[in-house]
Amino acid sequence: MGKVIAIVNQKGGVGKTTTSVNLAAYLSKLGKSVLLVDLDPQANATSHLGFDRGADRGVYEVLTGPESFREVSLETGHDNFHLAPSTPSLAGANVEFVSLDRREFRLYDNLLDIKNNYDYILIDNPPSLGLLTLNGLTAADQVMIPVQAEYFALEGLGQLVETINLIKENLKPELDVLGVVLTMYDSRYRLANDVLRELYNYFPNKIFRSVIPRSVRLSEAPSHGKSILGYDPTSKGAKAYERLARELVYLSEKDSQL
Ligand code: ATP
Ligand code: MG
Repeated sequence: MGKVIAIVNQKGGVGKTTTSVNLAAYLSKLGKSVLLVDLDPQANATSHLGFDRGADRGVYEVLTGPESFREVSLETGHDNFHLAPSTPSLAGANVEFVSLDRREFRLYDNLLDIKNNYDYILIDNPPSLGLLTLNGLTAADQVMIPVQAEYFALEGLGQLVETINLIKENLKPELDVLGVVLTMYDSRYRLANDVLRELYNYFPNKIFRSVIPRSVRLSEAPSHGKSILGYDPTSKGAKAYERLARELVYLSEKDSQL
C-alpha cells in the first residue's frame, strides 16, 4: 500500500514545492514509484517540472468530476515518477467544494483506487489552511512540514499543529506528523541555530536529520522546468534532497517492520 505524505505549511515560500518536487525525484531515483499531486492553484510544482500551468485537465477535474488520477497523471521524464497537475480551475475549489458531498474527503476518495500503484504519493499543498489543504491532510497518512530557518519561521506552527490535531480528532484519527524538514538553512547564521533549537522543543524527535541548505541551484531549477536531479545532481541542494529521500525510505521501512 502506498504511503501518502502531505507537505504542508500555511506559511508561504518555505520550500513546500521545492521539497515536493525534489524529494519525489530522488525517491524515484531510489527505485520507488511516486505520484506527486499538485494541490496548489499556483501550480508551481506543475511548472517546476516543465508543464504548462494552463493544462485543461488535472487535479481539479479529478476532485470534482468523472476524471480519475489514472487519466490525468503525466510522465515527468523520471522513471516511475508521475505528476497530477494543477490547473487554473483549482483556484475556485475552496468555494465550489462547499456544496459537494464529502467535501473534506474528495482527495482521499479519489486516491483510493491508485494508492496501490505507488510506493509514495506526495501532496504539495497551497499556503493556507483552507479546504484544499484540509483535503490534503485527510488524504494523508503522514504530514511533512518544511520550515524555513529564519527568525519568523515558528510563527503559525502552533496553528498548524492545532489544525492537525483537530483533523485527528474529527476526521482522520490515523494522521501522524512524520517530521519537520529545515529548509534554506545557512549554518553561518546564529539565528538559524536558534530556530533549530526552538523547533526541537516544538517537535521532539520529529526533525529530519537531513537539512536542506540554501542553494542557488535549487532556486534556478524551476525556471529550467527540471528537478534538481535533472538540473544539477552534483549541487549541494541535490545531495541534500537525496539524503532526505534516503532518510524517508529508511523511516518508512523501519515503521513497516514494527
Ligand atoms: P508557496 O507557499 O508559495 O507554495 P513554497 O512553500 O512552496 O511556496 P517554494 O516555492 O518551494 O516554497 O520556495 C520559495 C522560493 O524559495 C522559490 O523561489 C524557491 O526556488 C526558493 N527556494 C526554496 N528552497 C530553497 C533553497 N533550499 N535554497 C534556495 N532557494 C530555495
Ligand atoms: Mg508551493
